[in-house]
Amino acid sequence: MRGPHVRQIQNYACHCLNLKSYFRQPGDGRLHPRIPARDLVWAIVAGHILRLPSFLRLEWLAHSPVRAELGIHNKFGDDALAYCTARMDPETTRVALAAALHQAKRNKAFDNSRFIGLALDGTGAGHTHREPCSLCDPVKDAKGEVHGHLHHFVLISVVGVGGLTLPVDVEPYGPGDSEYAAAQRLLRRAVHHLGPRFADYVVGDGEYATAPFLHTSGEVALPVVARLKENLPLLAAAVRARFDGQPPQAVFQEGDDRVEVWDYDHFDSWETLNWPEVRVLRYRQHKRDGTVVQAEWLTDFSIAKLGSLSFYRRAKSRWEIENRGFNDGKNRYGMEHICHHEPTSILIIWLLILLALVIERLYRLRYLHRGEHGIRSAIDLVTYLWLTLGSRSPPDSG
Ligand SMILES: [Zn+2]
Repeated sequence: MRGPHVRQIQNYACHCLNLKSYFRQPGDGRLHPRIPARDLVWAIVAGHILRLPSFLRLEWLAHSPVRAELGIHNKFGDDALAYCTARMDPETTRVALAAALHQAKRNKAFDNSRFIGLALDGTGAGHTHREPCSLCDPVKDAKGEVHGHLHHFVLISVVGVGGLTLPVDVEPYGPGDSEYAAAQRLLRRAVHHLGPRFADYVVGDGEYATAPFLHTSGEVALPVVARLKENLPLLAAAVRARFDGQPPQAVFQEGDDRVEVWDYDHFDSWETLNWPEVRVLRYRQHKRDGTVVQAEWLTDFSIAKLGSLSFYRRAKSRWEIENRGFNDGKNRYGMEHICHHEPTSILIIWLLILLALVIERLYRLRYLHRGEHGIRSAIDLVTYLWLTLGSRSPPDSG
């Protein structure tokens, strides 16, 4: 059978996304490695593309007759995966992720869209009742009783580029740290790795609409689009005073939805924010089924640079990190699963899941899309990969 094959994806990652040297040297910190990190790291990435999220299942794959077809040279056990991932330098994988996204940009993967957004959001994963690690945050009920632990992190992702949501990096935050501090570290590092002209804006939910985060975005020279909620009561009240009872300034038809907007750029800044004034957009989105969604968003984009409809679209691009970041990552790619309960290993696995997502999406939506395979959905691709893995046909080099 011809068609998509794991080895084709490996070729694509190594040559089209320029990841060959990363897979050779993925930041292995072991002193006397018996199994090359190249085999272990590629096995984890390929395994997540094949939706095998546990080390035991990867061990099974490495001992199966299709090992060579997967591009893995040596057999290994789950203990080798645990030992290696706990000793890898996360910086090497982070730099590789950013470089792959840069290469995708050079390969014109984002050409159908003029503006690249970076969305940030925090979540928790890997609920466990085991002995806590340094990243373990206790899960408490209303009475303060502890029911196991969760591992929290902030994710940053490329959004707003025509349905291609590509994760960039994660920053964990354990007890004593905060989502808010982690998000600022993450944004600084991601922009440092991606370079100053890679993205055009940052988008985040209401918890990012506070002065220190907005100042961090300013430091890295990116305009922000952030949800306005009641954590800014004075601004929220000024917005109600100006917009309530007024007819919308414009009405757009956006797909099936009718969208009414109110847009004003001279609201007073609040005392800790160093912006001269604040622009706020209110939208009321009328869906076909009759539901109405209303929300307010703030920005430092001027009206001359960003019209109301584009402002609305950038605000909406935030949902991509929820749907194609966390939901896909957790439900399809094993982000909920802790392979080895050790902080560095947990972080490395998260980063390798991001890398698997980036490779899979670019291969499926930008590379296969050009051919006649007609494979567009992730589930179609993973089914094909399993079928072609057992077929022993020489992979088409593409
Ligand atoms: Zn833990």
